[in-house]
Amino acid sequence: MNSTSNKRIALISVHGDPAIEIGKEEAGGQNVYVRQVGEALSQLGWEVDMFSRKVSSDQEDICQHNSRCRTIRLTSGPVEFVPRDNGFQYLPEFVKQLLKFQKENGIKYEVVHTNYWLSSWVGLQLKKIQGSKQVHTYHSLGIVKYNTIENIPLVASQRLAVEKEVLETAERIVATSPQEKHHMKTLVSQQGNIDIIPCGTNVNHFGSVDRDTARATLGIAPDAKVVLYVGRFDPRKGIETLVRAVRESKFYGDKNLKLIIGGGSTPGNSDGRERDRIEGIVKELGMGDCTVFPGLLKQEILPNYYAAADVCVIPSHYEPFGLVAVEAMACGTPVIASDVGGLQFSVVNENTGLLVPPQDVAAFSNAIDRILENPEWRVALGRNASMRIMSKFSWDGVASQLDSLYTELLQSVKEPALVAG
Ligand code: UDP
Repeated sequence: MNSTSNKRIALISVHGDPAIEIGKEEAGGQNVYVRQVGEALSQLGWEVDMFSRKVSSDQEDICQHNSRCRTIRLTSGPVEFVPRDNGFQYLPEFVKQLLKFQKENGIKYEVVHTNYWLSSWVGLQLKKIQGSKQVHTYHSLGIVKYNTIENIPLVASQRLAVEKEVLETAERIVATSPQEKHHMKTLVSQQGNIDIIPCGTNVNHFGSVDRDTARATLGIAPDAKVVLYVGRFDPRKGIETLVRAVRESKFYGDKNLKLIIGGGSTPGNSDGRERDRIEGIVKELGMGDCTVFPGLLKQEILPNYYAAADVCVIPSHYEPFGLVAVEAMACGTPVIASDVGGLQFSVVNENTGLLVPPQDVAAFSNAIDRILENPEWRVALGRNASMRIMSKFSWDGVASQLDSLYTELLQSVKEPALVAG
């Protein structure tokens, strides 16, 4: 195989290392997306190189996932964790290191798929330097995010400019929901070549356990009423809304009620202000007895948590896609989610779960009560949820759509369009 052609793709994810443990601060959906897409593409015959920034000297420079899929960690800036809002300054070095890697390995990436705005800047440079075709997935749009938070970071104007440039110049943009595409068109730029390809989930992994087995495995009583949150501790995730909603639920005070807030680091370790703040609210509201913080839930154990829960709640203020929704649904668990972003696409209101206005404690509380007091309806919602995911959101389906998209772009490299005249 010629090193510059035939089914070779670089997935660039500067701050979302596809090979690290998921669920900790700043490691979430993007890491899962890149890793799953990478592995699924390799099964379709692609040589997949996933580039990320090295953040610890303990990390290997190259992590081989299978014979055709690897994570390559480039050193740019300090070899330590840098919050994403401070990462822009290290990108020129990242580009330099990526070019060096290409040269040393006799590779040229004709197509690069960039993830999140930091990586999109890297893709823009590769396009300028060597004409690489660029596919981009935003994972989060600055303009939408900044509308939902109070402290706008210094890097905001830079981010908005880069997000506009990439929309207007990338060969293809991948929106993960119709809502995200609409935001791009109305809030960023009317130009742009946008395909909608959702995020997926591993339908064989999630959905592999039934409720009774899951509860037995986790030591949860059959008659417990379990409300579950899974995700990072980030103010945008709206965990406070969920905690207050459970406090207002008519089931509060029932000894069977259990709120599980999964994610973050292992118990006892603080992972940032938001975790401390949420634990503080739980304490202040006197909810310590019914609330558990199991910490980071590994992907292997997660299906048990989703399957054991009566309902999974996603109270985000803003959510570009929301992998947790499709994972819970694949496990046959109804989802109550904020009526925002990609959640409006994955969750079908009154059919696979309930959509409620973000930050509305009373509405979340009412939705939780409706599901907890009606087990038959809960089962029906869960069944619909799992059918929706099986039919529309598998990683294999996502990968085959990306496969066609990359193939088209590679084809255009080999057969440049004829210029008239
Ligand atoms: N996750 C996990 N363990 C945890 C918490 C989260 O594996 O303890 C995973 C979860 O299964 C999902 C991802 O992290 O795949 C979160 O993705 P999502 O799109 O919901 O949110 P993001 O982190 O991208 O904002």
